[in-house]
Amino acid sequence: MTTIANNLAQVRQRIQSTCEKAGRDPHSVVLLAVSKTQSVEALLQAHAAGQVVFAENYLQEALTKIEILKDYPLEWHYIGPIQSNKTKAIAEHFSWVHSIASLKIAERLNQQRPEDMAPLQICLQVNISDESSKFGVSTAELEALAQKVDALPLLRLRGLMAIPKKGDSESAFIKLRQCQERLIQKGLALDTLSMGMSADLEPAIMAGSTIVRVGTDIFGARV
Ligand SMILES: *Cc1c(COP(=O)(O)O)cnc(C)c1O
Repeated sequence: MTTIANNLAQVRQRIQSTCEKAGRDPHSVVLLAVSKTQSVEALLQAHAAGQVVFAENYLQEALTKIEILKDYPLEWHYIGPIQSNKTKAIAEHFSWVHSIASLKIAERLNQQRPEDMAPLQICLQVNISDESSKFGVSTAELEALAQKVDALPLLRLRGLMAIPKKGDSESAFIKLRQCQERLIQKGLALDTLSMGMSADLEPAIMAGSTIVRVGTDIFGARV
């Protein structure tokens, strides 16, 4: 086995054993391979080991990989920051976007999503640790944004995403889940919590994560 295949098997094993501990079905957690800065060759190794869902942070790099790999049945998620001038390419090339924190960006993606594609699947990125410097919608503004994004026809609001501050993962994951529960009570059909990375996928799954975003522990350290 290549190192990447080995690493993938280990990450899948961690997901499986944490799900057992949590009394959850292991199929209820999607492993998203975060491939930013990794080579096409590395992605192909992951794909050969059964990985189909990949996430990218940098648009130009992502578009190059998507074009080179267009004959493979891969699913692409965008998890990086989004400027207005990037929304068209994102709307045209991705299945999911996890990093929506403003109505303006959501409206542009809705306008620019090609009608012959499935709706763009959306997670709102929440500034869950309330860091003034961190990107994301505040918990106070979350419901208003969620209701407006949910009304956009070519987007499909699926859930919430967060990157907790270091050392704060466990309580942040529980808080994000509580945000999701409140929105569900308000009538939004949310089924997704995008939380947990290489270092903290276990507490994320314990708190209810349905998508873990793992880079380093699959591909090795980024260069
Ligand atoms: C890079 C990145 C990850 C992956 O982080 P690792 O610690 O390498 O697993 C997950 N989510 C986001 C938003 C990222 O930018």
